[in-house]
Amino acid sequence: MIEIRNLSKTFDGKQVLQGIDLVIEKGDIYGLVGVSGAGKSTLLRCINGLESFDSGDLIVDSVQINRLSNKELRYFRSGIGMIFQQFSLLERKTVYENILFPLKCFKSKMNNVDQRIREVLELVELSDKINMLPRQLSGGQKQRVAIARALIMNPKILLCDEATSALDPNITQSILELLKKINRELGITIVVVTHQMSVVKGICNKMGVLSSGKLKAAGNAQEIFLNTPEILDDFMGEENY
Ligand code: ATP
Ligand code: MG
Repeated sequence: MIEIRNLSKTFDGKQVLQGIDLVIEKGDIYGLVGVSGAGKSTLLRCINGLESFDSGDLIVDSVQINRLSNKELRYFRSGIGMIFQQFSLLERKTVYENILFPLKCFKSKMNNVDQRIREVLELVELSDKINMLPRQLSGGQKQRVAIARALIMNPKILLCDEATSALDPNITQSILELLKKINRELGITIVVVTHQMSVVKGICNKMGVLSSGKLKAAGNAQEIFLNTPEILDDFMGEENY
């Protein structure tokens, strides 16, 4: 479980997150929505310890993350996967080497690395691309490699920052199906930052609405869509609403 208590953060004196209270339960697919600049990416980066914050608490599975030493924080971060809009693959490395990369970064002592890489590649249905370079892959395939790379460390949590925003609608759909499968079969908690309401409607059981660094609403996604659609007015008119 991820518990965020009264979290606030400023950048250069500007308040970008203000008194955020949020609970993400194990097994949730949690959507974080809000207009550009609302603070979505900043909050996501706080959750995986990439970004520090000024006040408040972040507790993940009973561990208070903001009290960890650098070494402990590094270990914590090895248990969280993250994927991005632009995939962030190493362009000169093959699919295999890209997936191997986190194991090297975190100096993992994992056994059967080769077999494990083949397993995650099979999960994302890209076994036949193992020796390809990123430039030889489509956008959807690159995102699948990024997902495989995020899964190689056996994370408990997967953070997705606009992971489908650069993809065509039908490719988006297949990535969303993959995220659902990962959540269902591996029991991984997923946090999805998006400005696409269709993504939240498609896969999220819970959602939080950020506006100017504050949490405007949070809870069951269907109930928010049904009972307080006016909270989502900011997004009206965007494609996919
Ligand atoms: P988008 O939908 O455009 O990605 P977002 O909701 O993810 O927006 P953030 O990237 O979290 O928004 O940014 C929130 C605010 O914090 C913005 O005003 C942004 O300019 C500011 N900000 C983000 N990162 C930094 C930084 N490293 N230094 C200074 N200001 C920053
Ligand atoms: Mg962002």
